[in-house]
Amino acid sequence: MEIRLTDGSIVVAAKDCTCCNHDGPHWLYDNDLWRASNSRLRAAGNIRGFIVEDLARVREKRWYMERNKIEEIIR
Ligand SMILES: [Zn+2]
Repeated sequence: MEIRLTDGSIVVAAKDCTCCNHDGPHWLYDNDLWRASNSRLRAAGNIRGFIVEDLARVREKRWYMERNKIEEIIR
């Protein structure tokens, strides 16, 4: 998994856990699971729940990206 940092450099995102079922940092894997869960809320018609949960998810993702000086997750 490649990421572009705020200084413009493109690097491979470091793995920070011992999981064998994903690449890259664990927080990003957790965020992907959270997004999938939120999509199920939307599909079930729980639009308010989807908006509340997905806004929280995006805020957390932005916090991690800013903390790690990540401009873009390239994949
Ligand atoms: Zn992990």
